Amino acid sequence: MAFIQQTRLLLQALLLRLPPTNLTPLGSTPPGHPTSVDSKELTSNLTPLNATLTKKQGGGPTLATRLARASSGPPLLATRHSSLATSSVLILLALTLVGCSAPHTPTLAIIHATVIDATGAPPRQDSTVLIEGQKITAIGPSASISFSNSTPTLDATGKFLIPGLVDSHVHLTGASEPTGSRDFILPLLLANGITTARDMGGDLDSLKTLRHEIDSGKLQAPRIFFAGPYLDGDPPFFQPSLVVTNATQAADDVHSLTYRGADFIKVQSNLSRAAYFSIAEVCRREHITFVGHVPDHVTAGEASDAGQKSIEHLTCVLRACSSDEPSLIRKQFASAPKHSTNVQSANRELNWQRQLLDTYSDQQASALIQKFLGNRTWQVPTLILLRNDAFPTPETDPSHDPRQKYIPTHVLQNWRKGTEDRDKGATPDEFTLRANLMQASLRIVAKMRAAGVGILAGTDTTAPYVFPGSSLHEELALLVEAGLTPMQALQAATKLPAEFLGKSQTQGTIEPGKLADLLLLDANPLVDIHNTQKINSVILLGQLLDRPKLDAILDSVERFAKTH
Ligand SMILES: [Zn+2]
Repeated sequence: MAFIQQTRLLLQALLLRLPPTNLTPLGSTPPGHPTSVDSKELTSNLTPLNATLTKKQGGGPTLATRLARASSGPPLLATRHSSLATSSVLILLALTLVGCSAPHTPTLAIIHATVIDATGAPPRQDSTVLIEGQKITAIGPSASISFSNSTPTLDATGKFLIPGLVDSHVHLTGASEPTGSRDFILPLLLANGITTARDMGGDLDSLKTLRHEIDSGKLQAPRIFFAGPYLDGDPPFFQPSLVVTNATQAADDVHSLTYRGADFIKVQSNLSRAAYFSIAEVCRREHITFVGHVPDHVTAGEASDAGQKSIEHLTCVLRACSSDEPSLIRKQFASAPKHSTNVQSANRELNWQRQLLDTYSDQQASALIQKFLGNRTWQVPTLILLRNDAFPTPETDPSHDPRQKYIPTHVLQNWRKGTEDRDKGATPDEFTLRANLMQASLRIVAKMRAAGVGILAGTDTTAPYVFPGSSLHEELALLVEAGLTPMQALQAATKLPAEFLGKSQTQGTIEPGKLADLLLLDANPLVDIHNTQKINSVILLGQLLDRPKLDAILDSVERFAKTH
């Protein structure tokens, strides 16, 4: 039992931040996730949430409704199609004629920029980008693009224009609602050029309210996609979670979440095999996306075969690259010898981690990567989480980071406590082991990218010392450190997440017709990826946020952090 708990600790090391009650050696309080919610609050929230969902079983959505939600288009699209087709041709014709005779009426012209459109094409110097309303309408050499004199212009001479960034792993509601997301996390994301965020576990009602406010223009913030509560085993690792232990619960919870507006389903580490494969089956049958951790009792290969669309934090990936995965799994769940001390349990974990590294097999890794390719399984390695939270060392100690001024006091206290608990008694050997696990993680990411596996940039903010917004830029730098080119790293936060989210038609690259989510940089990110941090302006849906406006946002977050 102790070893299972310690193994989770280790899993934590593998990526793995454990839930408050499981994470630390007996008697101590571990780091929380989400960070601001204390365990008492979590426990008291859990039962009502489950009860609410259970009650919905009788009066839940009909199968037809669920299927309609699961499909990508509105149900009436097919029947409307033929009449729409005819009128579309006429409208297109009319628009073409108008386009020929009327000049562009852009709402913003960005002139003389070097455009790095993230398609993979080389940078285009001295370009003009025209924006009308929320969209990009034209891109071309500054000498040949004309527009009305009254158009507001942004002179981008010597600057570099890239698409707005996507953080594919955030937790917006993890720092107290309703103010935590509005006054702290979302403003920091926006001020750092993140224009879309994928929320990977949080309070569904709060997220729906946020989306409504964002989409209606009431709240200027990145567009969000979300899972709502996790589906996890008993006990769940994090909150909010729905506990799933059998096929009936799996179907009910997947349907209920989808019906209530979740964009996808997030699976967590403590699910049983039976529960996990039941969730996978209902998602496969009804074309619902499921993503998340590979549960401890499932292998990464099995998760890929089961259709899990993205694997977060490389969960169980290194274990699957071992020449002896079955032995590692057996040891992970073996009972501890009677009367073993905390020190002995910790040593067993460290030995397990050493075995994990020592049995790494390039052949196994290649086989796993081939599976990921065949099944189109994406990876969101969250390397910044691994470096700052799972495998930190004295060299990577972020505890004196000046960005702490943007972090509310209660969140920072949780971060500090988690770090202290984790590092208490850690030996130089253990720090070396952590550094080696980090290096192994970087190598496997590089190997996956080289083979063509889709890699997405995500951070897991607000996990300890994963600063909202700026940590995505650190993630890009870590992807380059792993071996990706700067262009590949940029695409992991632009073009690829748009593909992953099914939004390639409207975002992800700088092209006419796409949403005007843009980032203007003072230096070339293809020369040095750290240059993504030199932000001159952010354009969100055509709205220009210049440096003074971005600084004002940062100032407001700093003021908020001081008093919360
Ligand atoms: Zn997370």
